[in-house]
Amino acid sequence: MSQLSISPEPSPEPKASPLVSVSGLAKSFGDHTVLRSIDFDVAPGSVTVLIGPSGSGKTTVLRSLNALDVADAGRVRIGDVEVDFSDGPVTKKQIATLRAQSGMVFQAHHLFPHLTVLENVTSGPVLAQRRSRAEADAEGRELLRVVGLGDRADAYPYQLSGGQQQRVGIARALAVRPKLMLFDEPTSALDPELVGEVLTVMKDLAAQGWTMVVVTHEIRFAQQVADQVLFMDGGVVVERGTPEQVLTRPGTERARQFLHRIL
Ligand code: ADP
Repeated sequence: MSQLSISPEPSPEPKASPLVSVSGLAKSFGDHTVLRSIDFDVAPGSVTVLIGPSGSGKTTVLRSLNALDVADAGRVRIGDVEVDFSDGPVTKKQIATLRAQSGMVFQAHHLFPHLTVLENVTSGPVLAQRRSRAEADAEGRELLRVVGLGDRADAYPYQLSGGQQQRVGIARALAVRPKLMLFDEPTSALDPELVGEVLTVMKDLAAQGWTMVVVTHEIRFAQQVADQVLFMDGGVVVERGTPEQVLTRPGTERARQFLHRIL
């Protein structure tokens, strides 16, 4: 994989302040409380993996970081952008500013079917960020090389495999030059033989120093790549630690049972 020119910020000092801080994050849908009070930090250049049973609130955490869901209470800080959801209603501008800090890769790719692969990658930079078409095209082609699809720029999404489509989704998320990359079960909708190519791209991004928060059931990926693992259940973070601590020697019965079920 070629090195990305829009590389993330240089690797942090060990004591660098967190790139992401989440505190007291709470969210309900109607009378269903989905997040109770979530706190965690993400160091720059690190990979955080969220695991836990279906319905435990993992996706809602990611969507709150990206302001696709608007939290009811708590604070989210990404870099120098901070939104306090406890301060009353947040403005559209605050939501847009927070959203612009991260790029998100979804379970299914959500590519525009009528646009080419390159146009899918450049639509964010050109339309939302008003960057020049020439610059966006050059960077988009480079991003496609980074995800191993340099020769498919002019193809349409239907001409690609599911794994290739997800890799376009990754290139598209990178194209807006985010500080943080969010991955919501990016391999769970793929046929098993296509999972590896997506995980390989994610490992390469981690190795290049991208700060990533990943929801996944791919425990081997978490063991190999995560700096911290958060185990969620019932809208709270039940355990946090290194992969060794949480995945190999979980401290709670809930985490032990979950891991037993999926391993
Ligand atoms: P996970 O990612 O751990 O599977 P989610 O964050 O997707 O969990 O969902 C947590 C809970 O919130 C689930 O019970 C889900 O049904 C509910 N939920 C998520 N989004 C919405 C929504 N837009 N409206 C109502 N309920 C929702």
